[in-house]
Amino acid sequence: MKIIDHIKNANGKTLFSFELLPPAKGQGIQSIFKTMDELMEFKPPFIDVTYHREDYMYKQHESGLLERVAYRKRPGTVAICAAIMNKYKVDAVPHLICGGFTKEETENALIDLNFLGIDNVLVLRGDARKGDPDFVPTPGGHGYATELLQQVIDMNSGKYLHEDIESTAKTDFCIGVAGYPEKHFESPNFNTDFKWLKKKVEMGAEFIVTQMFFNVEKYKEFVTKCRDNGIHVPIIPGLKPMTTKRQLIMLPKIFHLDIPEELSEAVEACKTNAEVRQVGEEWLVEQCKELIKFGAPVLHFYTMSNPGPTKKIVERLA
Ligand code: FAD
Repeated sequence: MKIIDHIKNANGKTLFSFELLPPAKGQGIQSIFKTMDELMEFKPPFIDVTYHREDYMYKQHESGLLERVAYRKRPGTVAICAAIMNKYKVDAVPHLICGGFTKEETENALIDLNFLGIDNVLVLRGDARKGDPDFVPTPGGHGYATELLQQVIDMNSGKYLHEDIESTAKTDFCIGVAGYPEKHFESPNFNTDFKWLKKKVEMGAEFIVTQMFFNVEKYKEFVTKCRDNGIHVPIIPGLKPMTTKRQLIMLPKIFHLDIPEELSEAVEACKTNAEVRQVGEEWLVEQCKELIKFGAPVLHFYTMSNPGPTKKIVERLA
């Protein structure tokens, strides 16, 4: 079922959903099933599975020479989505990225997803490869989420890349895109970034999932700005509990967000990791209560494949 239909059917009740990472290459799918087993009690209407482009690794030879090799550390997104749908009868939402795909490879991936009965995709540009200073598009691929979005929209209207093929099958993907309450880090200012978000919705994106944030006021301001500017699709807040002191440095560095002073001071004052987890839990529970009151359609948790802290929070809200 489409995400927008899950939201409509909930009649204003806030739903819970989760994002999972494919296991690192060499690890089995059991970790996904273990995570799913822990989260199923919250009846998630859908589960997102991230997509990871290849990264550069450096292999040292005996001579001391370093060889640069590129490989994908976390393959398996499409298969994990199929396995989740088959085993748990829950909708799975694969993330679809520009990086690492030619347009034809994207088309073939969309055909696979359609044949597997996957109804939703989250369309993204994707992160830059580790070692690249900026995002580098794959030759023959897309440079922005808007371009990838256009390809999915084209397939939804039966338009494939090769015009000479006989096309009788239209796909019917419900398409989500990313939104940034604290602005995308590459954008010169908030309004420029917002203009591209608006463009994605005008093109046909049907829901927005936000980057994580720790200050619920940022989400509220973002939603208000969207509504004031004619963006009326569901805006799903992305959430993550803080679990370690190191995240005070890492989360702003990786996700380009602000951690409220009250939270950072409380975490700094903790003497043990258990204390940090408790502070992180209390903070997010309060944020979630505010989001529910505000009418957030879904609370979407970035589990980072560690469901424990998320589970504790959702147990207190469900
Ligand atoms: P875009 O919408 O293409 O925007 C990128 C930048 O370009 C922005 O600054 C924007 O303002 C600007 N821009 C947008 N369109 C245009 C245009 N047409 N012309 C000029 N400028 C433009 N990364 C992964 O690799 N895998 C994942 O699974 C993944 N999942 C994510 C899930 C969520 C909910 C979020 C919020 C992010 C996720 N990311 C993932 C990270 C994401 O790929 C990065 O944040 C990336 O840098 C931007 O992606 P985007 O889709 O927002 O890009």
